Formats: sequence, structure tokens, C-alpha cells
Amino acid sequence: MILKTEGIVLKHFDFRETSRIATFFTKDYGKIKGVLKGIRKDHKKFGSSIDKFSLNDIVYYQYRNSEIHLISQCDLRNFFFDIRKDLKRSLAAHYLLELVDKIMPQEDPNDDVYSLMMDFLSSLGEEADTDKLVHILQIKMLLYSGFRPYIDSCIKCNAKVKTRAKFSNNLGGLVCEKCKISDETITVINGGTVATILFAEQNPWEKCLRLTLSPLIKKELKYILNNFLVFHLGKKIQSAKFVQQ
Ligand SMILES: [Zn+2]
Repeated sequence: MILKTEGIVLKHFDFRETSRIATFFTKDYGKIKGVLKGIRKDHKKFGSSIDKFSLNDIVYYQYRNSEIHLISQCDLRNFFFDIRKDLKRSLAAHYLLELVDKIMPQEDPNDDVYSLMMDFLSSLGEEADTDKLVHILQIKMLLYSGFRPYIDSCIKCNAKVKTRAKFSNNLGGLVCEKCKISDETITVINGGTVATILFAEQNPWEKCLRLTLSPLIKKELKYILNNFLVFHLGKKIQSAKFVQQ
């Protein structure tokens, strides 16, 4: 079957003498892997050099019994040049790719995740506060992939949490100050941080961009979100150590 879609390059590696295998997150078919035959020999064969985080229009033959399909056309649509000019932005884009690649299963379409990637890449070239963008990305990615932490109320007694509380990685959510718990994965979380996560879950990307994050909220988000992602994915996200420094 011949399929046509658009997709963002997550990663690629050289294959045999002249080809390359690339993984895309596509708008219509989710994460797909395909071979671009002869791309390293004939540079004009494809209208794209499949750079990481570039957006491309692609046409491919879908093989039923293989997870690697044959890409017949690939044309560059957006190179995101403004991101590539800046090291910090570029590292954040690589973090996005690794996060999506580790979280999303093969060939499982997800409109929310695709739009989130496009929003993130579009904003990354303009927004000065890269850390804020990374946090909104992490919160929304957890929500869309079904890994959302439970922060609506205390996970033990169901009381609403308005001020200081604890966050348990093990339990995947909030524990109020009254509830006793022995858990080595517990950390302090303030009301403002909880409210920020809820806001980012419930509001569209454009509205989230208007958030101003205090240094305390940023510090807590960084610690909690990074650890929560690693804990629940069971995998380290290598590029995480390069962003938010
Ligand atoms: Zn409680």
C-alpha cells in the first residue's frame, strides 16, 4: 500500500553502502521507520537530507510483514533554521526527539503528540525561556501518553492540596502533609508547582506560553518531571542532562 503523510525526523542511521534508515513521527501513522535507498550516493534523489527534527513530506510503500518500509519520496518542508543557530535550542529539540521516540510505540497515530511536537518546534525558534517550553512539553507528553502523575488531590486521603505537599515517584502522585508515608522517592512540592502542572495539562499550547515560572517552580518542575519520566519509562533519557542547565 502506498501512503502519503508528513513527518518529523526522530533519528537515522546509515544502512548498507548507499542507503539510510530513518525513523519519523508522522501526522497520520505515528512513528514509522523506513529505508531511503541510494540517498548517500545520489544526493538529488530525495528533496531532503533527512536532518534530525526537520519536517518532511513523505510517500512510502507500507510493507505488511516488516517494520521497515520503503520511502520513495521525501521532501523537506521545514528545516527549523532558528533552532539550529542556537545550541540550547538545538539540545532541547534533540530532547523532544528522544522523548517521543522512547515513549511512543511504533505505528500508533497520535494527533495530540504530533501537534505538540509542531508547537514545541515552532515556539523553540522564538521563545527565550527554553526551560519553560521543555516543562510544558514534559507535562503534556505525560498526559497524552497516559503516564500523567496524579496531582488532583492527595493519593492517600483524597484531600485537596493547596499549599505544600509531597510528591511520590513510587505512587505517581501527591501526598498531603498530614498523611504519613515512608517512601524514598518522595520530594517536596509547592502549591504553585501543582497549579502550574494542572494549568499546562488543561490549556492549549498558546495559552501555556503566557505562563511565567518562578525560579522555585522551575526547580521543582525540573526535579519532579525529570525523575518521574525516568522512573515510569524505566529508561534514562540521555539528552535530558544537556537541557535545563
Ligand atoms: Zn493525605
